Amino acid sequence: MKAYLITTAIFSVLVSLLVTLLLLYASFPKEIPSKVIRIVTLLTLIAAIFSITLQHRALRLTKKEERKITLIKCTNCDYKLERPFKEGDYVLKTLGRCSCGGMLYVDSIYAEKR
Ligand SMILES: [Zn+2]
Repeated sequence: MKAYLITTAIFSVLVSLLVTLLLLYASFPKEIPSKVIRIVTLLTLIAAIFSITLQHRALRLTKKEERKITLIKCTNCDYKLERPFKEGDYVLKTLGRCSCGGMLYVDSIYAEKR
């Protein structure tokens, strides 16, 4: 996770540097050979694509890590059920009857440990 963020940051800096180089070239066109510019342009594109991909991935990982879980328990027996958090879940919300006749309720809502 941390490695992703660092790599993403490096690529973002790289993109900025390459864009700066291209902008510099635009101001001094005759001093840099066009071959170099073509390579720099290509590198900028590749770095930008990598940067976007990594950011997307990092975002997805963050979302996964913050997944919320609802823990359902029975008031009567030891029945326990963990399921993904649903909109409208709250602690002590009743969810119907257990097979033993007790009431099912939301015991707790927490972020999933990874
Ligand atoms: Zn029960």
